[in-house]
Amino acid sequence: MQIIKGTSVYSSIADGPLRFFKKASVEIIRNTSNSPEVEISHFEKAKALAMEQLDDLYKKASKDAGDEIAALFEVHKMMLDDPDFYEPVINMINEQNVSAEYAVDETSKELSEVFSSMDDAYMKERSADILDISKRVQIALAPEKHQPFILETPSIIAADDLAPSETIQLEKHLILGFVMMEGSLNSHTSILAKSMGIPAIIGTGTTLSPEYDNKPAILDGTTGTLYIEPDDSTVAAIGQKKEELNNERQKLEALKGLPNITKDGREIKVYANALDLSGINTALENDAGGIGLFRSEFLYLENTDYPSEQEQFEVYKKAAEQMKGKKVIIRTLDIGADKQAPYFNLPAEENPAMGMRAIRICLTRPEVFKTQLRALYRASAFGDIAIMFPMITGTWEIDEIKKIITEVKESLKQDNIEFNEDAEIGIMIETPAAVIISEELAKMVQFFSIGTNDLTQYTLAVDRQNRDLERFCDTHHPAVLKMIEMTVRSAHKAGIWCGICGELASDLTLTETFLHMGVDELSVSAGMVLKLRDKIRSLDLS
Ligand code: PEP
Ligand code: MG
Repeated sequence: MQIIKGTSVYSSIADGPLRFFKKASVEIIRNTSNSPEVEISHFEKAKALAMEQLDDLYKKASKDAGDEIAALFEVHKMMLDDPDFYEPVINMINEQNVSAEYAVDETSKELSEVFSSMDDAYMKERSADILDISKRVQIALAPEKHQPFILETPSIIAADDLAPSETIQLEKHLILGFVMMEGSLNSHTSILAKSMGIPAIIGTGTTLSPEYDNKPAILDGTTGTLYIEPDDSTVAAIGQKKEELNNERQKLEALKGLPNITKDGREIKVYANALDLSGINTALENDAGGIGLFRSEFLYLENTDYPSEQEQFEVYKKAAEQMKGKKVIIRTLDIGADKQAPYFNLPAEENPAMGMRAIRICLTRPEVFKTQLRALYRASAFGDIAIMFPMITGTWEIDEIKKIITEVKESLKQDNIEFNEDAEIGIMIETPAAVIISEELAKMVQFFSIGTNDLTQYTLAVDRQNRDLERFCDTHHPAVLKMIEMTVRSAHKAGIWCGICGELASDLTLTETFLHMGVDELSVSAGMVLKLRDKIRSLDLS
């Protein structure tokens, strides 16, 4: 038996085979070929296929994502069809007898370096485009090598680290738990594990190695331990622990249907966070009063291209209908930083967490934003949908958002499409700037929801993705708590409500503090709803 320790993200237990996640990227080695003609013909065919795909993407993007995005695919086509790209590939195959795959890889790396060393900002950005088109040709050359990781049986997923886009593409019903060598508590994969209610541990370091692939394992999220090939006494002890957890769960079940009210009569809303429709089901199973944060970007992350207005509408409508009139707060896409969807073609950044993400993308690419807003407003006719905007730093952003909302509403009216004119709009308070001007912001919207994950990151200047900084990431730091208090005060002064939807909302050691501050709503992962209700009901604020 091997025992591997990590930091627990979610306290439950799973057993099953361990499967190592294989990243989609492949190493390209210098293969030689005896037949340059065959390699060149492979290259020509792959290039033609890539051109066809880009053509399709161009058409789809001009319909669903607007001219600006579509233009990018046009640029990719031009680059792919440029002799400056394909001639060096063909020359290299002819002169060095290398495989087409290798020649494409080498040529694109060289060209990309040439672009990135240019002074002109526009030309610099083309460096990423070159790598993008070369990847497309390489996939067309050897599609089998680029097959995504496929899960066939329920398994505990092991990985060095997982990006949200990788996690969301896995078959969720087959994931029993996550074990990661790296990872941080506030990363989106940790958040996803919590929202799925499955055990997860992070930061195991190199003790976790791919040699354990397919070995039977037990993941104990209550202690942050992974047992590989567990012995009989461990299996028995874990069996007992599972029973205790079940008993605890039974006790919590008895709280379903009861109000979230303190002994002295203070009531608070307890909502759940979700990132897809299955999350809405889990929220209902756990008796959440509503959805306090629907992370809509996962709809973008699980797709290989922009989800259309209709695709989005169907998801938001189902979410509203499933919640049967309970509030569903849908956050507009928060792509960027660790949440990357390749088709957005976001330029590489020095500091992505402080870069082009969330509302900044929406205001820079209004066509993408309008598509989402149209879908949201259409869905608002089917339930109590509220719309929330992430990463706000200034009042001008809300002015711009409102202008775009007016245009969207106008276009829906012109198309005779029903929607809720009064759907609530709110903002996430997750930057210190937003807290400091919260009195102004509160006059412009109908609610606030505090994103403590980012608010902590930006207040304490600690990268939430960086495990090594965990000891500097004091989530109870007085600066963070004062920011929360200040935000609630500003909200109430303007007569609007204020909730918390970051991970701190489920920190039961702070529940009493939040109630004293006057927080109106706490939105937590579904598995925490009843535990939080239990905590609230045990408190006496008087
Ligand atoms: C937050 O920042 O607290 C938040 C809820 O948003 P996310 O974790 O998705 O960035
Ligand atoms: Mg955030």
